[in-house]
Amino acid sequence: MSNFVCDNIGATQGGHLTFGGLDTVELAKQYGTPLYLMDEDRIRHNIRVYTEAIAKYMPAGSGILYASKAASFKEMYRIAGQEGIGVDVVSPGELMTAAAAGFDLSNVFFHGNNKTDDDIWLAMDQGIGYFVVDNAEELAVIDREADTRGIVQKILLRLTPGIDPHTYAAINTGKVDSKFGTAIETGQAEQLTVYALSLKHVRLSGFHCHVGSQVFAEDVFERSASVMLEFAAGIRAKTGYTAGMIDLGGGYGVRYVDSDPYLDIAKKIRGVAQSVRATCIRLSMEPPAILLEPGRSIVADAGMTLYTVGTVKHIPGYRNYVSIDGGMSDNPRYALYGARYTVLPADRLNEERKMVCTLAGRCCESGDVIQDNILMPEDIGRGDLVAVCTTGAYNYSMASNYNRIGRPPVVMLQGGESRIAVRRESLDDLLRLDI
Ligand SMILES: *Cc1c(COP(=O)(O)O)cnc(C)c1O
Repeated sequence: MSNFVCDNIGATQGGHLTFGGLDTVELAKQYGTPLYLMDEDRIRHNIRVYTEAIAKYMPAGSGILYASKAASFKEMYRIAGQEGIGVDVVSPGELMTAAAAGFDLSNVFFHGNNKTDDDIWLAMDQGIGYFVVDNAEELAVIDREADTRGIVQKILLRLTPGIDPHTYAAINTGKVDSKFGTAIETGQAEQLTVYALSLKHVRLSGFHCHVGSQVFAEDVFERSASVMLEFAAGIRAKTGYTAGMIDLGGGYGVRYVDSDPYLDIAKKIRGVAQSVRATCIRLSMEPPAILLEPGRSIVADAGMTLYTVGTVKHIPGYRNYVSIDGGMSDNPRYALYGARYTVLPADRLNEERKMVCTLAGRCCESGDVIQDNILMPEDIGRGDLVAVCTTGAYNYSMASNYNRIGRPPVVMLQGGESRIAVRRESLDDLLRLDI
């Protein structure tokens, strides 16, 4: 275990930060900044922690789907394909990125609370494996289109089990009141299921839920599993239909800062599997295949962003600002919801850090901050290199062209080598769509 927030981070004797075994100062020289790094070895390791624990503990047929909204570019789907897992997509863009990477689309699940008609046509054109159907309206559209095409489309139904992942008790309001899914508590989930079973051109494969993200609380997945299995047992009693699959969604938390806990994912999965078996015995049902949909916990700690420092401003009695050559355009998460990150002076790790400062972006927006109250060497200045750790999830995928800033490239690190997975957005790229 290293002294850093994740054990793929280290330091050279000369005080340079390393990531995936490579010197970040050298990487910044080679590829320029801002720069997204992705540690492929770590991505594969994170996937295998899930797949090995699931193979060991979960019922037959269980597995994971990588929630690709966390980081969507061709290399990610290639890796998922090679690791033999499925993926979730939520848009035509993600779907066609998977297709372009040669990913087997029969192993793709299409999510979203408002799939347009065009989304549905395109996904069917591409031979998508499953729609995770959000509501009755969407179900009718899918059934009609499958009829027109003379196919039977596999689906899951997305239900809201009424669980708040950040409190202990199951609460009946918060998570029932959601733009996603159809509520169990209101009886609408049962109506939707009966409706799905009455349709000839869809095949109901099971039920889905996703209760939240960055979840550390003890037994969230156990509780959602038991609500979902009880629902499935109720449906079986009423209709005779047996769900072959229960998808419990994603959401396991990751460490962004030293005070965040470590989650032992394998142990978590063992706990959920034991709870699933116990509940199935109580309900006298065969354990269905269990799917999990991790996004963040596959890619977050496989990512790091490098920036070059520009202006440093000291406002006596107020604050010190260290400005960098990126910002909310490549990482909007602090601006959006105050996300915490570990920030390090990548070229000066051996030096004392005594200056409390704010790491500010270059965008024309006061809220363009990457992190507040971080410690840096007192004389940090123009040309120094700063690393923001654990940026593999919801950074590249949330990047924008605000201020017409081009998005940074994504460089993959694997076995001590580096290669470009997504190239830097150039000025020509930014002008490409203007008439
Ligand atoms: C976002 C999302 C996930 C992934 O969540 P993480 O917190 O990144 O693991 C999984 N399933 C669904 C339906 C989602 O919307």
